Amino acid sequence: MQTSATPTHCPYCALQCGMSLTPEPEGGVAVVERPDFPVNRGALCGKGRTAPAVLSSRVRLTTPLVRRAGVLEPASWEEALDRIAEGLTRTRTEHGPDACGVFGGGGLTNEKAYLLGKFARIVLRTSQIDYNGRFCMSSAAAAGMKAFGLDRGLPFPLEDIPKTGCVVLVGSNLAETMPPALRYLTELKENGGTLIVIDPRRTRTAEQADLHLSPRPGTDLALALGLLHLIVAEGRTDEEYIRERTSGWEEARAAAMAHWPEYVERITGVSVPQLREAVRLFCEPENAMVLTARGPEQQSKGTDTVGAWINLTLATGRAGRPLSGYGCLTGQGNGQGGREHGQKADQLPGYRKLVDPEARRHVAEVWGVDPDSLPGPGRSAYELLDALGTDIRSLLLMGSNPVVSAPRAAHIEDRIRSLDFLAVCDVVLSETAELADVVLPVTQWAEETGTTTNLEGRVLLRRRAITPPDGVRSDLEVMHELAARLGVEKGFSTDAEEVFEELRRASAGGAADYSGITYRRLAEENGVFWPCPTAAEEAHPGTPRLFLDRFATEDGRAVFAPVSHRAIAEEPDEEYPVLLTTGRVVAQYQSGAQTRRVDELNAAAPGPFVELHPRLAERLGAAEGDPVAVVSRRGRAVAPARITTNIRPDTVFMPFHWPGEGRANTLTNPALDPTSRMPEFKACAVRLETVGK
Ligand code: SF4
Repeated sequence: MQTSATPTHCPYCALQCGMSLTPEPEGGVAVVERPDFPVNRGALCGKGRTAPAVLSSRVRLTTPLVRRAGVLEPASWEEALDRIAEGLTRTRTEHGPDACGVFGGGGLTNEKAYLLGKFARIVLRTSQIDYNGRFCMSSAAAAGMKAFGLDRGLPFPLEDIPKTGCVVLVGSNLAETMPPALRYLTELKENGGTLIVIDPRRTRTAEQADLHLSPRPGTDLALALGLLHLIVAEGRTDEEYIRERTSGWEEARAAAMAHWPEYVERITGVSVPQLREAVRLFCEPENAMVLTARGPEQQSKGTDTVGAWINLTLATGRAGRPLSGYGCLTGQGNGQGGREHGQKADQLPGYRKLVDPEARRHVAEVWGVDPDSLPGPGRSAYELLDALGTDIRSLLLMGSNPVVSAPRAAHIEDRIRSLDFLAVCDVVLSETAELADVVLPVTQWAEETGTTTNLEGRVLLRRRAITPPDGVRSDLEVMHELAARLGVEKGFSTDAEEVFEELRRASAGGAADYSGITYRRLAEENGVFWPCPTAAEEAHPGTPRLFLDRFATEDGRAVFAPVSHRAIAEEPDEEYPVLLTTGRVVAQYQSGAQTRRVDELNAAAPGPFVELHPRLAERLGAAEGDPVAVVSRRGRAVAPARITTNIRPDTVFMPFHWPGEGRANTLTNPALDPTSRMPEFKACAVRLETVGK
C-alpha cells in the first residue's frame, strides 16, 4: 500500500474532481483536498468526500457468486469464469454470435471501455454491444457531430466560462449534479456576466440566474426556435460569420421564422417578454455560451433540440470563437471517454465509425485480425435491452444497473429475467446483479490504475491508492480470463498502461486521437486534452480549445440544423393529464448502486419523492409527505409528496436513483430519438392518485 498521499480523481461524475487519498491508520483511505487540480481546486461534493465508504462497505462483494438451484451462492473464480465461458459458448453455438450481448457503462475507464469493445468484436464476434451512455448525452454527441463534425462535450475548458458575457444553461442543474462547477457561474456573475437558466423547475441552479425560463417539459426545441426568430427579427445575427464559417443558414432561418414568438409562447409557456429579455441578455455581450445537459438531450427529438440550441451560437457568430460557443455538460464519470473507444454499437476506437472501411482496416491491424471479420453496427442500448430473451439470449454486463436506470424499467427487468444467461461484473449486488447467473466482484477506482476523460475532453490518470481486498479482480483480468477461455490467448492485457498503449495506437489518426498521450504525461501535466496526436519532434501540447480556425467538417464550416418544433411522443390527455419529468438529487448518483450504500448519503437523500405544485396537490387532495401514486401507460410508482411552488403546475418531478415501488423509470417512455436513439426520459404523460385515502 502507498504510505503517502496519492493524487487521483473522484469515481463519480464527469467533472472528475481531483482529490488525494491518504492511508488511514486502521486501514482504508481518507479523502484529502487537492487544490492543484484546476477543475475543482479542492472542492468536492458529498459524494466525492464519502467515496471511500464504498471501498470498505459491509455489502461490498468479495467473492464470485454463482446461481445454483435458483440461489446465488459463493463460488471460486475458476468456477465462475468457467460458467460464463460455458454460458456464452452455448448461446453462440445454438443461436449464433449475435445472440450474445454486451452492455457497458459510462463509468468504465478508457482502458476498460476499449477492451470491452474489442472483447465483443473479436472474442464473441458479436455486433450486439452498447452502453448506458446512450441514455446520457448521445443526443448532444449526435448534434455536435452534425454541426461541428466532432463531438467533444466542451470544446473549451471550464475556466473559460467566467470570462464570457452570458451563459445560457439549458436543462442542467449543476447545483445538484456537480456542485463544485457552480463556482464557474458565480465567478461569471462576479465578472459582470449574466446567467440564463432554462428548466421547468426553479432548481437551486435556477435560483442563481439573472433570468429563469420555465418551459413546459419537452418544448426546449420550440423555445430555441423562438429565440432564433427574435434574433433574426431584431437584426442581431452575425452575417459575416454566417457567410464565412457556416452552411445551411437559409433553411434554418426559414424554419425559425415560422416560429413566431406568440406561437412559441403557446407551446412552451414562456412569455414573449421573457423571450425578448433572453435574446437581449444573450446577444448584447461580445461573447456568450450555450451549455446543454440532460433536459434538452433526453428527448425523442433530442438531436434536433440540441441542434436548435447550437443554431443560436452559429447565428450570432459565437461557436469556434474564444470565450464563446456551445458545449454539453456530460454526466457520467467517463461519459466522454466511454463514447470514444468502441463500446458504442456503431463505433470503433478513436471515435471512428464502424461502417468506415478505412477505420475498420486501421483498428483491425492494431488488433491483428482481418477487417472483414469485424461485425457491423448493432442495436442501441434500449433496443439491445428490449431484445433480451428473444434475439439476444446471453448478456455480459459491466458497470451498469439497467433495472433501475433504463426507461420502461419494469419491462426491461422482465426482459433481463427472460435471458438464458446473465453475467454481471460489479462491486455490490446491484438490482441487476441480483438477477444474474454469475456475479463477479471487481476492483474499484482507488484499487486500480486507469484513465478517464472528463467533460472538457481532458484525459486524466486515476491511480491505485489501496490494495484491493482478497477475492476481487479487475475488469481487465475478467476480460483476459474470459478471452483465454473462449480461445483468444493474446491481446487482453491485465495491465492498464499496456492497454492504454494499445488504445493510443488504435486511436491514432481518429477524431479522438490519444496517440500523443502517455501515462507519464498525464501524471506530470495534470491531464492532457484530446486531440493529441503524436508530434514528429516535440510533444503535442493537447487541444484545450477546438474549432478556433475551422470546424471539423469536410469544408471546415459549421452546419446549421434545419429543425422545426415537434410535440413530445406522449402528450397529456384526459386519462394521463400531467407531465412527468425526472432528474437527480445531489446526494445520489445515477442508479444509486454505490451511493445508496453510503450511510451519510442515504441520510441526506433516503428515498424518492414526487415534487408537485400546491395547485396540483390541492386538486389531488394530497398533503406534504402523503404517498402519491404516479401512473403512466407503462406502470405505477409511489413516493411521498413534496409540495413546492418551484415547479410548473402542469408537471411533476421524480428523481430516478431508487428501485422498488418508487422507481421513477417504471414510468418513463422509451420512445427513441431517430438519430441518437436516446429515450424520452424527460417528458411523459402520467396521472396522479392518492394512496390509502
Ligand atoms: Fe465527484 Fe462529481 Fe462530486 Fe466532483 S462533483 S466530487 S466528480 S461527484
